[in-house]
Amino acid sequence: MERYSFQAESRELLDLMVHAIYSQKEVFLRELLSNASDALDKLRLLSLTNAVNLPEGHVFEIRIDRDSEKRVLVIEDSGVGMNHDELVNNLGTIARSGTKEFLQQIKEKNTPASELIGQFGVGFYSMFMVAERVEVFTRKAGETQGYHWVSDGKGEFTIEPVEKDTIGTRIVIHLKPVDEENGIEDFTREDVIRRIVKRYSDFISYPIKMKVIREENKEKKEVEETLNSMKPLWTRKPSEVSEDEYHDFYKHLTHDWENPLATITLQGEGTVEFQALLFIPSRVPFDIFYQSFEPKVNLYVKRVLIQENVDMLLPRYLRFVAGVVDSPDLSLNISREMLQQDKTILQVRKRLVKKILDTLLDMQEKDREKYTKFWQEFGVIVKEGIGADYENKEKLLSLLLFESSAGKDLITLEEYVKRMKEDQKEIYYLTGESRRVLETSPYMEAVKDKGYEVLFLTQPIDEFMMSAVHEFQGKKFHCLNKEPIEEKAPEVSEEDKPLLEKLQTLLSDHVREVKFSTKLVDSPACVMTKAFEFSPHVRKILGEKYP
Ligand code: ADP
Ligand code: MG
Repeated sequence: MERYSFQAESRELLDLMVHAIYSQKEVFLRELLSNASDALDKLRLLSLTNAVNLPEGHVFEIRIDRDSEKRVLVIEDSGVGMNHDELVNNLGTIARSGTKEFLQQIKEKNTPASELIGQFGVGFYSMFMVAERVEVFTRKAGETQGYHWVSDGKGEFTIEPVEKDTIGTRIVIHLKPVDEENGIEDFTREDVIRRIVKRYSDFISYPIKMKVIREENKEKKEVEETLNSMKPLWTRKPSEVSEDEYHDFYKHLTHDWENPLATITLQGEGTVEFQALLFIPSRVPFDIFYQSFEPKVNLYVKRVLIQENVDMLLPRYLRFVAGVVDSPDLSLNISREMLQQDKTILQVRKRLVKKILDTLLDMQEKDREKYTKFWQEFGVIVKEGIGADYENKEKLLSLLLFESSAGKDLITLEEYVKRMKEDQKEIYYLTGESRRVLETSPYMEAVKDKGYEVLFLTQPIDEFMMSAVHEFQGKKFHCLNKEPIEEKAPEVSEEDKPLLEKLQTLLSDHVREVKFSTKLVDSPACVMTKAFEFSPHVRKILGEKYP
C-alpha cells in the first residue's frame, strides 16, 4: 500500500470545505454525479474515435446504492475510470492554474468560504463535507488493473491495487452521523436522494439508477428505477423550461455555485441547423486572464458530446460565455484542428456572437443596473474585442460604458453624442490613472469653458482599445492629452522666441518640442503626446522611461 499527502493547495481547500458552515451540503451529490457523467462522456468520446474498444454489451450508466444501517452511500459509473497516476494527480492535486494565487487572495481578504466555493467549484472534495471516510475503486478503460484509493480527507490518502471486474469508478462514502442542524440529512433515504437528483441532475444524459422497495399485491419487492428524465435542456422548448432548471444546468456545466446573470437560447434553422444554450456568469472567473483559460462551451452532435471547452465557437473577447452548442450538421469525428476551418462552425459562431451582443444591448436598454453589473465584471474583456472584431465594431462600441465629467453615472457613447453641445464636433476623452487625477488635470481646461463633456478612460486597456477607435455615429474621437493632427501652433512673436528656445534647450533631454498653446486657461504648461503615440500614463504601465 502506498501512502501520499495531498498537495498543499488541496489540503487548504479540503480544510476550508470541511469547516465551511455551508447550508447546502447536499450539493456533494450533484458534484459526484457530474463527475460520473463527465467520465461517461469521456469514454463515449474515446470509443467514438476508436481510441478504446468497449467491452461487449457495455452499458453507459450511473448507479446509486445505499445502506442506511452502515451509513454508506455508493455512486458507481461505467465511465472512463482512472489508472494509478491519474488517481494520484486528479484526486490529490488541483491542476487548475492560478489556484495557489487564488487561495492566497482568499486568505488575505478573508473571503467567506461560501464565496470561495462559488468561485472555485470544488467537485470531488465537496463530499468530505458529509463523509468520514471515502473509498474509490476504479479501473481505467483499456487497462486490466484496478486501484483502491482511501482517504479521510485530513491530509493523506492511500492507494493499492485491487481486482475490479468492470471499467469505471465506484465511490463508497462512509457518511457522518445524521445532523440536520448542520445540513447532514440522511443521504441514504430514497426520498432525499430522489429530491437531490431531480433538483440538480435531472438532465444528465445517462440513466441514474437506484434499487427501491415497492409494494405490489401486498408483497414487497426490490425494483430498479431511473431517477432522472435524461432530457437535455437545450432540446426542450424554452417556454417549457423553468429558470431554476436553467440555473441548475449552468451550475452542472461550469461548477459555478452562483446563478448566471443571463441565459440565452438560440435555434439555428435554414443553412445551418443548431441549438445553443448559453450563459453569462455573474462573476468573472478568477483565472480568466491566464493564457490557459478555456471557455466552457461544449459541442454536441445530436446530443452526443464530441468536444469540451471549444474555443472556436466564440471569439476570445467572449470567452467568459459558457454553454452548449448542438448541431446535427457536424461530423462526429471532427478534430480540434478541423474545427478551425469548418464552415458550419464559422456560421454558427457568427450567429452566436450576434445573439450575445444583441442580448447585451437589450440588457443595457432595459435593465441598466444589471448591465452595469455585467460591465463592471466583464467590460475589460469585452474591450479586447474592439480592435479584433471589425465586423461587430459598431455594436461593441455601443456596449461600452464610460465614466464622464458630467457625473458619477457610467454612460454610453450614444448618450454622450445625444447631449453634445450644438457647436461640438468631436467626442472628447482623456486617459489616465484615475477619475480624480483627470478631473483636475490641466488638459480639461481646453474644453471646460465651452461646457463640453469629457469621457474619462482609466483602465490600462483603454488606450490600446482607443488606438482602434476613430469615430462613432460619424463623430470623431479627440484625446485631450494628445496633440490633434491638424492643429497649428499659434504664431510666435520675435519677443517670445528666446523664451521658447531657452525652454527647448533646457528640456531637450525630455521633450521633442516646446510650443505655445491656446488650450490652457489657468495652468502655465502641460505635456502633450503626438496623436499616434501612447500617453505618459500608458508608457509608465509599459515600463518605458518617462520624465
Ligand atoms: P472537475 O470535475 O472540475 O475536474 P473534480 O474535483 O470534480 O473537478 O474532479 C477532479 C478530477 O478527478 C476530474 O477532473 C477527473 O479527472 C477525476 N474524477 C473525478 N471523479 C471521477 C470519476 N467518477 N471517473 C473518472 N474520473 C473522475
Ligand atoms: Mg467535477
